[in-house]
Amino acid sequence: MEEMKDKCGVFGVWGAKDAANLCYLGLYALQHRGQESAGIVSKDGSRFYVAKHMGLVSDVFTPEMIKELKGTSAIGHVRYSTTGSSDEHNIQPLYSKTSKGKFAIAHNGNLTNAHKYYTKLKKEGALFQSTVDSEVLLHLVARSKSRSIVEAVRKELANIEGAFSLVSLTDSGLIAARDPNGFRPLVLGRLKDSYIVCSETCALDLIGATYEREIEPGELVFIDDSGLSSFKIPSKMNPAFCIFEHVYFARPDSIIFGDSVHEVRKEMGRQLARECQVDADLVMAIPDSGNSAALGYAQESMIPYEIGMTRNHYVGRTFIQPSQKIRDLSVKVKLNPIHSVIKGKKIIVIDDSIVRGTTSKQRVAALRKAGAKEIHMRISSPPITDPCHMGIDTPSKDQLVGAHHTVDEICKMIGADSLAYISKKGMLNSVFSVMPDHFCTACFDGRYPIKIPKRRRKHAFEDDKIKQSRKKVSL
Ligand code: AMP
Repeated sequence: MEEMKDKCGVFGVWGAKDAANLCYLGLYALQHRGQESAGIVSKDGSRFYVAKHMGLVSDVFTPEMIKELKGTSAIGHVRYSTTGSSDEHNIQPLYSKTSKGKFAIAHNGNLTNAHKYYTKLKKEGALFQSTVDSEVLLHLVARSKSRSIVEAVRKELANIEGAFSLVSLTDSGLIAARDPNGFRPLVLGRLKDSYIVCSETCALDLIGATYEREIEPGELVFIDDSGLSSFKIPSKMNPAFCIFEHVYFARPDSIIFGDSVHEVRKEMGRQLARECQVDADLVMAIPDSGNSAALGYAQESMIPYEIGMTRNHYVGRTFIQPSQKIRDLSVKVKLNPIHSVIKGKKIIVIDDSIVRGTTSKQRVAALRKAGAKEIHMRISSPPITDPCHMGIDTPSKDQLVGAHHTVDEICKMIGADSLAYISKKGMLNSVFSVMPDHFCTACFDGRYPIKIPKRRRKHAFEDDKIKQSRKKVSL
């Protein structure tokens, strides 16, 4: 089984007349969480309907397809994976007929011990249809001795390590569950009498649903026509919310882990200004990832905020391009400096993070070309030093510029006049409602809150080798 490094969004609805349509809209709002494939499974009485394909939500589903996804409940998934298997079989939701009835599942995160079960199950004769780690759960549930499917999922989840925020559709109801660390977000909403579960509140906003609460770390909820029941996954709770959701991944209009993403990012910008002052004519963001933090920086430093670059919204995220050459080109396609703003100015440029350093270098070069007198890069997260094994797509350690170079060296590499990052403490203190020690900061310090099997660490490296070989082919 290949180790998947999925960035995903999930959505589930129970008890709504136009379930598939709501699911479609929900996935639309969650598109930033995965652009490789999209899928919906709906349920009409005892019949399940499946539609999934590679591509963006708007490309995958036609109005006719949505019409065919009958029923009053549905789950959906958007996915981007970095491994070689961009394969139709891996598109979620996964769906199967099991000894416990029909079972569809959509999952965000990484199951770090999936391989152990995969090997065992395969030896016992299990036939795997995909290489996604979530399929392990499907097999475990199918083989579980528990009579009810809810109990089977609850018990099997206790054996699973890693990150999971999942939704599942069964014959009897909708299941939603979040791992005991609560790495990835998962929220509960209401739309009239129906229940919605999804990765981020921006999906609730789009369909006009109200935000009720988070699914708690280690909580499993079961929703059917009689309402919602909450259960505990029998594992040790240890909150380790992903701070990178606040830094970059989540949408600014979402509420994540109880706080507005935009407000947290703005506070990170203010803190960055307090920690890393520099004299300049203007503060600008790398759109859109630096927007909120740049606003905070400008407010705190009292240096005017300007729009120094515009973004072409019709280009996918540069980071997800598999080949370096295409990535380099699409950086230029995506952002263009506004010369009248930049020319002859000392500028402070705010971005959320530096991963490989590729895009920062391109952006600094573009700003220089547009006539900037001085360029001071300010980053609203600390240097990324370690890969994520809990569901954010990051390259292996050897690709992370922050793992092997000092801030001064990175500054030279990207061609800026100065470079400074927010401190880890400053970043964590910018969150309003969550204690700093309730966050996972592994990508900034290598301290993983769960055991990462050696095999997995090695695989991260092999994933990168796959990417490198793709790069060689395409250059
Ligand atoms: P890089 O050129 O690798 O340094 O790319 C850094 C840029 O990618 C930053 O401006 C971020 O906004 C964005 N970024 C950071 N992490 C990710 C991620 N996991 N997936 C996609 N984009 C990311």
